[in-house]
Amino acid sequence: MTMTHVFPTYARFPFEPIKANGVIVTDNHGQDYLDFTSGIGVCNFGYQNPAIQNAVSVQLTKMWHISNLYENHLQESVAALLVGDEEKLVYFANSGTEANETALKLARKATGKTKILSFNHSFHGRTYGAMSMTGNAHIQEGYAPLVPDITFADYNDDASLNAITPDLAAVILEVIQGEGGVIVGDLDWLHAVQDKCQATDTLLIIDEVQTGIGRTGYRFAYEGFGLDPDIVTSAKGLANGLPVGAMIGKASLAPAFGPGSHGSTFAGNPLTMSAAEAVLTQLTPAFLDDVQAKATVVWQTLDKFDALKTVKSVSGKGLMIGIHLADDLPVNDVIKALHHEGLLTLSAVGNTLRLLPPLVMSEDDLTSGLNTIYQVLSK
Ligand SMILES: *Cc1c(COP(=O)(O)O)cnc(C)c1O
Repeated sequence: MTMTHVFPTYARFPFEPIKANGVIVTDNHGQDYLDFTSGIGVCNFGYQNPAIQNAVSVQLTKMWHISNLYENHLQESVAALLVGDEEKLVYFANSGTEANETALKLARKATGKTKILSFNHSFHGRTYGAMSMTGNAHIQEGYAPLVPDITFADYNDDASLNAITPDLAAVILEVIQGEGGVIVGDLDWLHAVQDKCQATDTLLIIDEVQTGIGRTGYRFAYEGFGLDPDIVTSAKGLANGLPVGAMIGKASLAPAFGPGSHGSTFAGNPLTMSAAEAVLTQLTPAFLDDVQAKATVVWQTLDKFDALKTVKSVSGKGLMIGIHLADDLPVNDVIKALHHEGLLTLSAVGNTLRLLPPLVMSEDDLTSGLNTIYQVLSK
C-alpha cells in the first residue's frame, strides 16, 4: 500500500482479512487462514457464531443506542451473568483500557489512598491511567509526565511482597501476563500477594481482559488459581468483537461510585450488551469443561516443542499459549512463514509466538495448526 490517510501507529501485514466464518478467515486475495488469534483474544466463539449473530441482528432492528439516562435490562442481564451469586456490582466501559482506568479511579476514591503497585512486563492499556500502570518502558516512551504514585515490582518475585504496604490503594496484576510474554503467575506467589493485600487494606485488582471469558478453561483465570480479588476487569472476549469493557467490584465499594462519579456515552449500549449476553449464556460449565479437555490435548502436543532448537520454552494455560523462540529467530519471520502456510498467529514481548485460538476450535484443527507451527519451527 502506497497512499495512506491513517496514522502509522500499526505495523500491518500486507493483506486484508475481509470475511470469516467459524475458525477460518479469508483475505482479499482469496486465501484462507486457520485462525490462531481470535482477533487478539476477542472472537473466542469464532466468527458468525449463530447465537451471537442472531442476538445482535434482532437488537439491531430494535435500537442501537440511547444513553445511560434510562433503565437498561440488557446491562442488568449481562451484569447478573458476570456476577453470579457473588456480592458484586458491574460498571460497563468500552474497552479493556477503560475498564482498568475505571478500576484505578474506583480504587483511589474508595480507599482515599493514591498509591498503586503494578508489575514489570504487565500490560493494562494505553490511556494515561492504564498506561501509567503498564510495566513496559517502550509503551510509556515520550508520554511523560505519567500519572503519579504508581510504582512497579518484579512479577513472581517474593521480594515484591515487601512493596505491599498500608499506604497502597491497590495492587493490579494479570494472573497470566499476556502482552508481556505469556508469563504464568506462580500459584503460591499470587496467594501471598492476596494475603499481603488483605493484611494491609489494599485492594487487589485482577486484570482479566485477556485471560477471562473462558480463555484458560475458566470463566476468569483467577478462579483456576482460587483467588478472591476485590476488583476484576474484563473486555476482549466479552462481546466476541463488539467494543466492550467491564469492571466487576465487590458491592462494598458501591458508595464510592454514586451517581455522577463516573460515566460514558457509549458504554453498555444495547447492541454490545446483546452480544455480551449471548457470549455469557454460551459460557456454560459444560463449555468450559470442553475447553479444558481440548487444552489437555493441546498441551500434550506442545510437549514435543521443547526439543526443538528454535524453541527455548513453552508457557501458558488453557488455550493461551506462548512459544518462546530462540534469539536468532525473530518471531515476525515465523508469523510471516505461517501466513504462507495458511495460519494466523500473534506475537508478545520477548520474541514470543503467542497463540489465542477461538475456544470453539475443534481438537483436529488445534492439532493441525500446532503441527504446522512445529514443521515451520523445525526448518
Ligand atoms: C488488551 C489488554 C488490555 C487493553 O484492552 P483494550 O481493549 O485494547 O483497551 C488491558 N489489559 C490486558 C491484560 C490486555 O490484554
